[in-house]
Order: sequence, then C-alpha cells, then structure tokens
Amino acid sequence: MARAGSAQERLDQIVRLVAGEMVAEVCSIYVLRAGEVLELYATQGLNPDAVHRTRLRVGEGIVGDIAAHARALSLADAQSHPNFAYRPETGEEIYHSMAGVPVLRGDRVLGVLAIQNRRSRQYDEEEIETLQNVAMVLAELVAGGELVNPNEIKQVDGIGLLPIRLDGVQLNGGVAIGRAVLHEPRIFISRVVAEDPKTELKRFGDALHGVRADLDRMLEDGDLGHGEHREVLETFRMFADDRGWVERIREGIADGLTAEAAVQRAFDDTRARFADITDSYIRERLSDLSDLTNRLLLRLSGRQSAVDPTQWSDEMVVVARDLGPAELLEYDRNKLRGLVLEEGSALSHVAIVARALDIPVVGRVENILQRVEPGDALIVDGDTAQVFVRPAEEIQQQIADTISLREAQRQEYARLRDLPAATRDGVAVSLRVNAGLMIDLNHLEPTGADGVGLYRTEIPFMVRSTFPDVEEQTSIYARVLDAAAGRPVAFRTLDVGGDKVLPYVGAFDDENPAMGWRAIRIGLDRPAMLRRQLRALVAAAGVRPLQVMFPMIADVAEFRAASHLLELELQRAKTRGTSTPARLSVGVMLEVPSLIWQLDALLTEVDFVSIGTNDLMQFLFAADRGNPRLGNRYDCLSPAALRVLQFVVDGCNKADVEVSICGEMAGRPIEALALLGLGVRTLSMSPGSLGAVKSMLRSLDLAHFTAYLRGLLNGSERSLRDKIALYARDRNVRL
Ligand code: PEP
Ligand code: MG
Repeated sequence: MARAGSAQERLDQIVRLVAGEMVAEVCSIYVLRAGEVLELYATQGLNPDAVHRTRLRVGEGIVGDIAAHARALSLADAQSHPNFAYRPETGEEIYHSMAGVPVLRGDRVLGVLAIQNRRSRQYDEEEIETLQNVAMVLAELVAGGELVNPNEIKQVDGIGLLPIRLDGVQLNGGVAIGRAVLHEPRIFISRVVAEDPKTELKRFGDALHGVRADLDRMLEDGDLGHGEHREVLETFRMFADDRGWVERIREGIADGLTAEAAVQRAFDDTRARFADITDSYIRERLSDLSDLTNRLLLRLSGRQSAVDPTQWSDEMVVVARDLGPAELLEYDRNKLRGLVLEEGSALSHVAIVARALDIPVVGRVENILQRVEPGDALIVDGDTAQVFVRPAEEIQQQIADTISLREAQRQEYARLRDLPAATRDGVAVSLRVNAGLMIDLNHLEPTGADGVGLYRTEIPFMVRSTFPDVEEQTSIYARVLDAAAGRPVAFRTLDVGGDKVLPYVGAFDDENPAMGWRAIRIGLDRPAMLRRQLRALVAAAGVRPLQVMFPMIADVAEFRAASHLLELELQRAKTRGTSTPARLSVGVMLEVPSLIWQLDALLTEVDFVSIGTNDLMQFLFAADRGNPRLGNRYDCLSPAALRVLQFVVDGCNKADVEVSICGEMAGRPIEALALLGLGVRTLSMSPGSLGAVKSMLRSLDLAHFTAYLRGLLNGSERSLRDKIALYARDRNVRL
C-alpha cells in the first residue's frame, strides 16, 4: 500500500483504492480514539466534510457495533438494522447495503473499515475476506504510526501522564515494584498475498517445526521441575499438534495468502467464532492459541522471540493484554518482578506459572496497555489487586519500605522455623499448610509445617485439559505423599462445583452453584467417579498412613455413604492382594451448618473434623464468600460466629476427636488467636501465613486469653475484633 505523502493522503488513497477494487460506492475508515470514540478519518463516497466530524461511541451504530464485538457485519439493508445510527452530515441515507470489518491488531480494535452501496445487495464471503485482509494491513500501518498520529489515538488519563491507580483482580498475591515492559508480541505483516503457495507452505512447515522444537526445549528445561506449570506447558504444546488448526492455515495458504496472513486469519476466525463465549476454559484456550500464533508469526518473520531483552530493566513488571505460559517464561526470572494483564483469570495457565515463579499478578485491569508507557514506574499490589502507574516518589518509597519490611519479616519467620510452635504458657499447636499444587509442597520444609491440613485434590484436576484417570491420579497423590516425607496429608476428595469449575466437565447450570450440586453431592451421585479417586488414594498410599476427608458433608448419612465407598475400595485392594494403608483416618470438612446438629452422632464415627470456615461462614451468614460488597458486612469474629465454632470445638474436644481449622481464618493472626482461645490446637493455612501465626502464638499467654475471650462470647456486639486487637496490643501479642 502506498506510503508516500501525508498520513491523510495515504488514508484517502487507501479508501479510493478499496472502493474501486470492490466496486463499492463508499469506502470509509473509522479510527478508534482514546479507546472510546470511532472517528471518521477518511472516506470515498460519503460527504468529505464529515471527515473528522462524524464520531460514534463504541457500540453506537453499525460501525460502533462492529468495533464493540470485534466482528464483521454484512447487511443488505443497513438502515433497517436496529443499531443503525443516522448521521446527517455524512449523506449516507442513499446507501442501503453495508459491510464492515474491525481493524484488529492482536486483540485490540483500532478502528473499522466499511464499504457501502446504493442498491440493497448481499456481500459474499469472499468480499468480506478481502475487507479483512485489507483491515489486517491497515492495522499494521495504524500501529506503525504511518496513517494516524499515535498521540491522536492514545488513551489518556486526565492531563498528560498523571499517576493513576487501577483496580483488577488478584491472580497471585504479593507486592512488587518495577519498570513497565510492554509485552507487544504482534509483528508487522507486510505481505498478505503470495505468488507461490508451495514456498509459503514450506515456510509455514518450517516455522511450525521450529515452534514445536522451542516448546520441547522448554519442557526439557530442568529448571521447570515437575510441577503443574510443566503440565500446563504440555497442554499448550498439544495446540501445536492440533490437525484442524494446522489444516485451516494450509487452506489459507492454498487460497493465496502468505504463511503469516494465513496464521493470523486462522486465529482471527477462531476468535470470531468464540467471541460471545464467556466460558473460562474456552477463553483460556484461546489465549493459549494466541500465544502460539505469536510464536509462529515471530518465526516466520525470522525473529526468535517476541520478547525484546533490549527493553528490559533490572526490575521489570511485564504488562500485557494476555500472556501465554510459555511467553512468561521467556522473561528473565531474575529480573521479573510482577505481571499485569488486561485479561486473565485465576484459572489461567499464566497465573499458575506466575505462582510457581512467586511473582504478584493482577489481572483484568481495564485498558492498562493504553495507560502505561514503557519504562513507567509500576507497583503491582497482588494482595489488594491494585496497580499504581507512575506512583509519586513517596508512594514508591512507601512500597519499597513495605517490600523490605516483608523481606525482613520473612527472614525473621525463617528464624522461627526450628523453634517450637507453642504458646508462652507451653501449649503446643500444630501448624499445617493448605496445598493443591505440587509447588505448595515445597513450602513444608522452609516453614517447618507439621503436615498438610488440607490438600485440595480438585486443583490438579483444574489445570488439566481432561479428567485424570486412576493411574494419573495415583501418581499425583503418590508424589504428594513423597514430598510430604512422612508428614500427615489430609486429602480432601473432589470439591468441584461452586466456584471451582472443571473445564472438561463444564458448568452445571445451577442457579446457585455454591449451594448446588457440588463436592460430595456429586461424588455420591456419581459414585464411580468418587471411587476412582478413592482407589487412586489407596494405591498412592500403599502401606503408608492415609488421611481422607469428605467435603460439604451435610448429615451423618452422607458421611456414612462416602465412607462406605472408601471401604469398598479397601476391600477391592485387599482382594487383589495390593497393599493397604497401615493407618487410615477418615474425617469430614465441617462447612454446612446442618451437620452441627448431628455432631454427637458424627463424633462417634469420624476420626477427625476439619472446619472449613470459608464455606461455614458463608452459609451461616447467608453471605456469598466471593461477593466484595458483602466482604465487610459480617465478621467471623462476631460472638455469633465464635459461639458456633466454640460449640463444635468443645464437642470435638470432649469426644477426643481431633478438630482443626483449614479455612482462611486459620492464617490470619488475629483470627487464629481467637481460634486458639476457643480450644483449637491444629491450624492449617496457606504457607505464606505460617510465620506470622507462629510468631503470634509464641508471644501469647493462652490461658489468660482463653478466660478473657470466653467472657466476651455472650455479648451482643457485631464484632469482637477491636476488643481482641486491644487485648493483643496491651499484652504484647504479636499480630
Ligand atoms: C473452606 O470452605 O473453608 C475450605 C477450606 O474449603 P474451600 O475454601 O476449598 O471451599
Ligand atoms: Mg469449602
């Protein structure tokens, strides 16, 4: 396409050329400005005075609709479309048919390219494809600053580059500070059509081969260990072998596209087909596919990697629309401090890898790419799900202080590792960790935890693309037991449903999933599935002791039914002559309030009770645990909640049945303090919390606090938090 002349002349020339080639009376280019407004930048056929005057919001009119959904539209009678927005200055009332495509670069809409004709006609697929091909080139030219002044389209926040604070969702906790590195993997596609399909096929074949080899190399990389992040890469590698996808690219080449254009088209088609699907699994796979597309485009361009080390700083925060797991691993781990994404979810593979790398990640930060300049100072606060862009000196200093304070605290906690977890008055407390990924097991040694109080078996299921069979499950559980090296591990059977969706099982369409068909309810309705898991647990244990707990038990009958299935599996193992656990303890997660009213009966049948306060509190207060608007409404340190816990703990202690807490309460020092006061002696928490809880309890005179707390439980306040905090302050209990 022509490059001579001013940007406006070039745009004018493009619309003239396209209109002529496509026998259209109108061809127009709309450019998205400031991420919000589509402005007519050039037209052949509409009133020239409308250029730079006609503006539509994203979503407004047909052009706005195309941009909002990033999809092509072809309309024989545009004016009868419900979204048609008439702009008198354009003089477009005489044109009936219209076809438009988004100008897309990566996942970002840069504008809309549209053609119109007077007579009502249907544009065929080939014409739409031609428009898309032109739009693809336009996108590169716009992004390269050749058609539009980049400052005109940049999204600005207030005046110039003021500091801003943006909210997102937590994908991994922690705090980091660094310089922004924009992950801009898209590369310039300068040629769309090719003369010789044979050459293009060969180029594509070579590039695919190269990408596969790269992935294999990463998989062999000793550094990665054998955790789930490795399995994630393996899943990702499967895309490179997907025949349907490869076939579509070959077809594109056979139709006359260059290898690059065919790769891009295959991805755009897939994205368009899934545009309206909100299913998180599909969205994640789409982002894997985007990663793969980028890798192929890079290879085809002769470059090795999208990641440009010349842009790196010693402390960097990578900012991306989305990122594949393999792409993240290309950044130097010694320099990588944090990650900010416009998309992403806690389930996303990149979040799992980031967790393995121990860097904070904030996702779903709207338009972050348009608001950050390379080299900007960024603070990623994964704990509060906030990102500070160009923070003032004082804030940077504050965060740097927080980071070094945390580091000092970490070292201080590390020093506690070998000291007993006992209160000042000599009461021993068992501190355990919650786990779900192999990487979590690495924390047992450095924290000095006594074992795993809750192993969430659904997490390994969630990072896979298919249901693991008995053999695979056995291998996972055996690895967990190996890593625990003799420390107890409480395996919780599958707790799917609710907020934990298994990608390959799909959502269950429950109106109220947290109270729907989940956890043991599924297990008992699908006993074959639960039995396979129990079989794997028995096999993994061999002769080692085995601890199994069932989630969401609502009455004793459910516990009996579940234990019966476990009994059947033990029998099966015995009949087959395979080894069975030397010691078996079977318990429940107490998280459904109804079970409390069968506690006496329950305690004669279980070996232990683990209280899941996350769910118990949500059901007790009828307050969704994930709803931020309810986050501060009810307090687990209210007399009501504490008395419920006291009832259960007293019951268990009297019956001499071990009771532990594995909900988030156990890991927050002030809440852990209250739990100790209620008589709990086993706490299981995320590994990062263990040091703080240990430090708290070692500074505590438990007998004194117990008497104090018991005196408060009959009160009618909404919360005892302040009183407990004051007590701790006055008595030098380290919270
Ligand atoms: C709980 O409900 O407290 C619990 C530990 O289980 P999860 O958070 O996995 O539902
Ligand atoms: Mg729960």
